[in-house]
Amino acid sequence: MSESESRITFWSKNDLKCPVCNSEFRREELLTGRGRLIAGELTGELRRLYEPSQKYGDVCPLVYPVTVCPSCYYAAFSQDFDRIPEGVIGKVSSESETRRSQIEKIFPQLDFTDNRRLQEGVASYFLAIACYEHFPSHMTPTIKRGISSLRAAWICNDLHRKFPNENYDYLSKIFYHKAQFFYGLAVEFEQEGKESLADVPHLGPDLDKNYVHDGVFYLSGLLEFRYGDKTDPEMRKKRLEFAKRAVARLFGMGKASKSKPSALLDNARELYEQMASEAT
Ligand SMILES: [Zn+2]
Repeated sequence: MSESESRITFWSKNDLKCPVCNSEFRREELLTGRGRLIAGELTGELRRLYEPSQKYGDVCPLVYPVTVCPSCYYAAFSQDFDRIPEGVIGKVSSESETRRSQIEKIFPQLDFTDNRRLQEGVASYFLAIACYEHFPSHMTPTIKRGISSLRAAWICNDLHRKFPNENYDYLSKIFYHKAQFFYGLAVEFEQEGKESLADVPHLGPDLDKNYVHDGVFYLSGLLEFRYGDKTDPEMRKKRLEFAKRAVARLFGMGKASKSKPSALLDNARELYEQMASEAT
């Protein structure tokens, strides 16, 4: 078997130009088809798992969607990368070294010019979370930071399975807490009309399917239930009530349909019951 037959990615033919630092680089893209991805089960967090194939081994598609400039560590989802507003460039540029030193404390040997590993995958989302902080509301940065945090937590779980003694489970928890915060905020902003979820073409949370805003409401409930602050019982009760209402809205609206697949409805019902039993 030649190397080209067993590869899972390719490098973009044309150079990309970083809108922040003007350096040029190529982007690694995932090849699909030919049995590279064998879909497995869908988790309660709406993550699609993949079975390793004999020919291609373990493939984690989530490692590739964020474009990262290897020079200044500006990172954004590929469709946003060139759309960074003029007024944001200065801020993202000035924090370049901060981003680099923060992520290198966790992963000292990152290399975005070579094939991405799970480590670069987590790092790409970490950098995107940092850069989206400066994006304006009309580009819906909050849910993008939420999706990035959730995916980073997932990839940390993968890393923990591979390297059980490296504390990746701890890192995963940190990202779950971030996800909980940003999903909660995104739902709030949606309801206040501040950031519209309808403006995001793919809300995932994974790549295989778009669960649109229903998925966001469901996950905000799930994350609040699992990772929300439990120190103040009164506050906890209030927040759980809010989360329960968001989840109940999903299955309160009738039967499964294209936009409300049964997997989501079943998960939502189950979650609602769990929440209700904690509340009593
Ligand atoms: Zn750059």
